Amino acid sequence: MGPGPSEVHPRVLRAMSTPLVGHLDPSFIEVMNDVQDLLRYTFRTENKWTIPVSGTGSASMEAAIGNVVEPGDTMLVPTNGYFGGRMESMATRAGGDVVHVDAPWGEPLDSSDVEAAFEKHDPDVFGFVHAETSTGVVQPDVSELTDIAHDRDALVIADCVTSLGGVELRVDEWDIDVAYSGPQKCLSCPPGASPLTLNDRAMEKVLSREELARSWYLDLSLLEGYWGDERAYHHTAPITNVYALREALRLVAEEGIEARWERHRNVAGALKTGVEAMGVEMNAPDDYWLPSLNAVRVPAGVTDTDVTDYLLEQYDLEIATGLGDLDGEIFRIGCMGYSARPETVSYLVSALGDALEKQGADVDVEAGLSATSTALGK
Ligand SMILES: *Cc1c(COP(=O)(O)O)cnc(C)c1O
Repeated sequence: MGPGPSEVHPRVLRAMSTPLVGHLDPSFIEVMNDVQDLLRYTFRTENKWTIPVSGTGSASMEAAIGNVVEPGDTMLVPTNGYFGGRMESMATRAGGDVVHVDAPWGEPLDSSDVEAAFEKHDPDVFGFVHAETSTGVVQPDVSELTDIAHDRDALVIADCVTSLGGVELRVDEWDIDVAYSGPQKCLSCPPGASPLTLNDRAMEKVLSREELARSWYLDLSLLEGYWGDERAYHHTAPITNVYALREALRLVAEEGIEARWERHRNVAGALKTGVEAMGVEMNAPDDYWLPSLNAVRVPAGVTDTDVTDYLLEQYDLEIATGLGDLDGEIFRIGCMGYSARPETVSYLVSALGDALEKQGADVDVEAGLSATSTALGK
């Protein structure tokens, strides 16, 4: 129950033992079509250009930024978490100039700050993180941000690695031009083939670049030869990961995307309620709480790594500590996909309570457990 990989669904594990066929085998082409349709369903988009990128979330992230940002472009990136920094590194390597919109770690971007940054810097591309895994914050009012960008003819790239399949995300309705994600967070799939979608506006920019994208492997104009109508060899697809992703996305469709968002809210809500009833604070303000990644303040007198070590040794339970500005200050508890179940949350609250109590924190474990059971309707 860390920030990913999350627990993989048994059906996905089973799909991974399917014998391999070639990446141009007619039966595999059907699998590719299924994956693309199911990705469109999960992203809530009609975008033709919807593919799994070979590699982890950072590969789909680099495919997005490395293709959309051209040398000399200005990209506006956020400073309110770890992954805005990674956007900056990638935009710089793509030859872009980077400017910032600021918010403290642990808070979302304010649309008036985004507007002011647009006034000042007139960026070509605006990137933001929909679900910041380093702080447990979800960015609200996405449509407001995309409106600001589109009024000034900029493209919007959204990091949806920790939101896709777990938190409300509507790519078309919110008018996001490019959204990328990863399989090992709310989709409960192993890392290896990472969702990416681009609308026509974004793809037009990619296909009319003056200079070729700097990465051959992630060049979308070439990848489209394989994932588009042509179905010609570019590189060998990670066949097993594509099988896994199809099964994981079928699970999303069977559950229903909105029901899945609601499950994450309810189950992670019981975790949050239990932690708070125990006397421990959440890091994110309630309005921006991210169900898929619960950032919990480390209580006074406790060393974060003593608690994570104890949980691993005594309970075989994995959670993470903080990153960057929040190093040593928070625990990061994932509640993603197949891990977002009543029984895992009950186990987590009980184990965390025990760990904190053993480390001498002033916590009321009984109150936490009882609040969690009530919230879970038990
Ligand atoms: C995990 C994550 C990434 C990077 O994904 P990898 O699979 O580790 O490459 C990018 N952005 C966010 C918000 C993430 O949580």
